[in-house]
Amino acid sequence: MLFQETADYYNRLEGISSRLEMIDVLTELFKKTKKNEIRNTIYMTTGLLAPPFAGVDIGIAEKLAEEAIATATGSEKQKVEESFKKTGDLGKTAEQFIANTKLRRMSKEKFEINEVFETLHKIATTSGEGSKDAKIKMLANLLAASSPLEARYIVRFALGQLRLGAGDATILEALSKAETGERTFKARLEEAYNICSDLGLVGETLMKEGTKGVEDFRVTLFNPIRPALAERLPTAEEILERMHGKAAVESKYDGLRAQVHVDKKNKKVEIFSRRLERLTEMFPEIVNAALKEINAQSAIIEGEAIAYDEATKQFHPFQETIQRKRKHGVEEKSQELPLHLFAFDILYLNGESYLKKRYEERRKTLERIVKGDGTIRFSDMIIATKPKEMERYFEEMVEDGLEGIVAKDLDAPYIAGARKFSWIKMKRSYKGELSDTVDLVIVGYYVGKGIRAEFGFGGLLAAVYNEKTDMYETITRIGTGFSEENMKMFKKTLEKIKSGKKPARVSSIVEPDYWVEPKYVVTVRADEITKSPMHTAGRHAEGEEEVGYALRFPRIVSNGIREDKSADEATTTKEIIEMFKQQRKTKVGEEA
Ligand code: ATP
Repeated sequence: MLFQETADYYNRLEGISSRLEMIDVLTELFKKTKKNEIRNTIYMTTGLLAPPFAGVDIGIAEKLAEEAIATATGSEKQKVEESFKKTGDLGKTAEQFIANTKLRRMSKEKFEINEVFETLHKIATTSGEGSKDAKIKMLANLLAASSPLEARYIVRFALGQLRLGAGDATILEALSKAETGERTFKARLEEAYNICSDLGLVGETLMKEGTKGVEDFRVTLFNPIRPALAERLPTAEEILERMHGKAAVESKYDGLRAQVHVDKKNKKVEIFSRRLERLTEMFPEIVNAALKEINAQSAIIEGEAIAYDEATKQFHPFQETIQRKRKHGVEEKSQELPLHLFAFDILYLNGESYLKKRYEERRKTLERIVKGDGTIRFSDMIIATKPKEMERYFEEMVEDGLEGIVAKDLDAPYIAGARKFSWIKMKRSYKGELSDTVDLVIVGYYVGKGIRAEFGFGGLLAAVYNEKTDMYETITRIGTGFSEENMKMFKKTLEKIKSGKKPARVSSIVEPDYWVEPKYVVTVRADEITKSPMHTAGRHAEGEEEVGYALRFPRIVSNGIREDKSADEATTTKEIIEMFKQQRKTKVGEEA
């Protein structure tokens, strides 16, 4: 397929305002795409050059792109800069410059999507001395041979600003429709995606091997599995009732979730975060331990990495654990404040997937193949059959400075990529407040009045994620809890992802001063969840109600943006409805 055609589809996607239309356009695009192009087309449409865990970042700086545009069109760099100041979008600037250039299309030949993709890939992976000039040259050559519309998308892509707004679920639905004519096969595609975290691979398997290929999809070492997530309930009784009277109860550590893949024969280890980013270099002590302390040819185990002081038996705060996120001084930090991995699950062993096995069997296997007294420990665990036992354990954990507990259904398989009641968390509760914080997606912002006008920032419009409809539904406006520094940061960060109109996957009645691409997540505490006609969260979810849910007295608790969650990992509409029900029950209980 010619890249010009892909660019035409991107242009159409940009103009639409509903998710259904988006699916139709994507379905058409995928139908036209050849088998050997589908993988790259999917990556490209989601703004990537490889699955996210591969960490291939194109990350071209604006200055560099400006230079490439100038070179490609024989223009002065200053002119390009001036135009950028006016358009605020280098993609548009590139489009205009290419349209006006006298050097139009050095070569008249048109290029295929795979050629464009490969060049962009090469630009991204070129490194070392002289790489900056080489990158400019490659990008300039590509632009010189582009049409104006192609140039718009090439430049936006290279800057990491493609932003077509198609989420994973939307891509999977369009793939299902393109290949089977129905949307129902999406569920199977999702299962395959949950165990490989690679949309491109899932699309390619479907196109090349048909539905059978997707049904036979298997866990592969070094492809991260999307993590199982926990539901929440406020009392031990309710947890035990859900788990048929018996549950494993583990400590909930406040560290970093780590999925460790190990291949002993080739001495290879990779570590992935909750968001499936590669964190291997951040944890040298866990890499070493995985090779020494896991007694298996190959395995995937999961646990929480946390700084722990052996001598005092104290856990260090989360903030100290994540200092590792900075790339510098990892070696020193690993000496000074070594991390432990508190392992809680095994997902794969010696070529065999363990996802379908019961929790009890998985835990036994984990304890069999790991020694458990070195850098890798086991998460603390008891079996509880009575609410009192669970409560006592919970109190002990809280006293030890831990976050709370995670109860696990002894009979349940590992449910990749989903929040289910096979894991239930219970956290420290705060009197007079919602018992848990929520993670919300920023969909818009306000410019503010009075003193805030000075910062150009007066608050956020925030949303929850509706998994069923793949939409972001607003739940609150947040106006308090920001430090001056925070306000400046939000203004600067959000300005870059401003959108002229409401993004297609946002559902909202209220209108902020500026819409933004749903991308960033913040943690929010509130006093309670109320019903409100102003917000769309949970509207029509149960019966025909015209009102949605809203937060009362919301305030930001995260120190800015929560880096470890993407928009689709925000609190879901379903969770809000559950929390609303729990809150009502607790209130009735208190009054009685
Ligand atoms: P939270 O902010 O409460 O950690 P979350 O959305 O990141 O929520 P959940 O799935 O709701 O994640 O809660 C489980 C999280 O708790 C896991 O992602 C993991 O990082 C952490 N955790 C700590 N100890 C355990 C444990 N023993 N078993 C499972 N998860 C644990």
